[in-house]
Amino acid sequence: MSTRPLSQRVEALVRPEIRALSAYHVPPAAGLLKLDAMENPYQWPDPLKRQWLDTLNEVSINRYPEPGAEAVKAGLRQVMGVADDYEVLLGNGSDEIIQLLALAVTAPGRSILAPEPSFVMYRMIGTFVGMEYIGVPLGDNFELDLEAMLAAVKTHQPALIFLAQPNNPTGNLFEEAKVRAIIEAADGLVVLDEAYTAFTDTDSLPLLDEYDNLVVMRTLSKVGLAGLRLGLLIGKPEWLGELDKLRLPYNINVLTQASAVFALQHFDVLKAQTRQLRQDRELMVEMLRQIPALAVWPSEANFVLVRTPAGRARDIFEALKLRGILIKVLDGSHPALADCLRLTVGSSAENARLLEELAAILDS
Ligand SMILES: *Cc1c(COP(=O)(O)O)cnc(C)c1O
Repeated sequence: MSTRPLSQRVEALVRPEIRALSAYHVPPAAGLLKLDAMENPYQWPDPLKRQWLDTLNEVSINRYPEPGAEAVKAGLRQVMGVADDYEVLLGNGSDEIIQLLALAVTAPGRSILAPEPSFVMYRMIGTFVGMEYIGVPLGDNFELDLEAMLAAVKTHQPALIFLAQPNNPTGNLFEEAKVRAIIEAADGLVVLDEAYTAFTDTDSLPLLDEYDNLVVMRTLSKVGLAGLRLGLLIGKPEWLGELDKLRLPYNINVLTQASAVFALQHFDVLKAQTRQLRQDRELMVEMLRQIPALAVWPSEANFVLVRTPAGRARDIFEALKLRGILIKVLDGSHPALADCLRLTVGSSAENARLLEELAAILDS
């Protein structure tokens, strides 16, 4: 056996780009009011919860799941109005779907392109699978810089382009004309990531009829089922058939399948919660705008981006934590997000508490 120190063995074997990464950091939240991760704050009514548990009682935990999770797909098709012409592919969260897309196209010289700042997993997963990542800066109000996007598409010919619609962490929608121009200019596959579809009226599914190089990705995480880990991709069978070959067997476990089928049958409950969150988002934006020290961006999602006075974002984040509230500090993650914080829209009472503490911290 070699006497080489363990650290050297690891260094010799693990790819340098992986060693250079820091693992996706999820801060501990025990005892804190969680307004950091775009979770739905609401529980199900007790009778519904009992019905759900009865359903789980019937699940055969000793058996492998139904491999295609057909009942889940049927429920999603119905709730989201997916036409029969399109296929649905399920992932263990949409993160897994991003990984499947990247695995399907990775090869030396292949790249992923996305505007920046946007969802960090596009870059991370690109790195995991050995693809080059190209980030194109957004404009001053986080709008797509169409000229820069088209130039980058032309230069790099990316295999995958990700557009989060609305975008995380900025909360805005991209202009449809610009989205179309990018799809039309791309030879690669464009992924419209509609993780926040429940919080906006914009719906990209009709675009699938017009473009062969487009797929639409969604998730149940932000609508109130983050714990289930269920994401979906909607698109033409030609694309999804290839991706399905890469999907690990049984990637959607029995508990998720049973719970998702149940939740989709009672989707009106989640919809009502979502409607409430949309209303409270508007209220929250309005109240945040009354704090003169903050710049507040409008949002089409269940979070609000704010800019604090220069150099204060981290203090405010820490001060809120001391007062029992966890939010997301974005300062330091991207130059365009200097002094920025992201606030998830919680219940009305939670938002009121956040606003009160925030105002108190900024006053002191
Ligand atoms: C939260 C989020 C996702 C990931 O969703 P999961 O299904 O929970 O993996 C994907 N895209 C964007 C833009 C998000 O904000």
